[in-house]
Amino acid sequence: MYKTESKIAKTGKKLFSSDKLLSVEYPLMEDFYTIQGEGTHTGKAAYFIRLAGCDVGCWWCDVKESWDADKHPRVKTGEIVVRAAGSKAPIAVITGGEPLLHDLDPLTLALKLKKMKVHIETSGSSPLSGYLDWITLSPKRFKEPLDEIFPYVDELKVVVLKNKDLEWAEKNAARCPENTRLLLQPEWDTPSSVDLIVNYVKKNPQWGISLQTHKFMDVP
Ligand code: SF4
Repeated sequence: MYKTESKIAKTGKKLFSSDKLLSVEYPLMEDFYTIQGEGTHTGKAAYFIRLAGCDVGCWWCDVKESWDADKHPRVKTGEIVVRAAGSKAPIAVITGGEPLLHDLDPLTLALKLKKMKVHIETSGSSPLSGYLDWITLSPKRFKEPLDEIFPYVDELKVVVLKNKDLEWAEKNAARCPENTRLLLQPEWDTPSSVDLIVNYVKKNPQWGISLQTHKFMDVP
């Protein structure tokens, strides 16, 4: 957990009582109530907040329309949080784009004060911010994670297309805490990655497999 409940108790109420927190704006591509489709929390109801802006540039990215933050409206934290909390979802998942391009302290604090668990999915390539209950690090070779995120990684999820990605996965796993969940995820449009991962996990059972179940179920 990055930033503690006690810190929220000390700082949160003061911030929440001011209009400042709720008027902070973020470029928002979309937000919606759905089911977490990937990783450890697969199958759980969650409110997804997809912030726009990404400077990583993975060629196989399936949300390229998120890259340019200027193409998306800037929305106030208060508006996002009303929708998220109003959905009654127990979890908010901040994703992107690369969400750490933005200071996540205001948004995540406002969500926490509404008693939501806050998860993030990030490449870790920009400075860490936010009040976070769960950090999924999905490291990308195109822009490597910063050192500062590794002590807080709850789940390491590496997208695999070929053998080289397995070496990349191990290199990052070696920097994570011992209790980090280690997951390999096949790249959706690269069917050969499934065999690669299955064979690797059988030989290296400290790793598990993450599937994009939302794509099988055809939910967003
Ligand atoms: S980090 Fe994520 S959003 Fe950015 S290019 Fe890579 S896959 Fe796409």
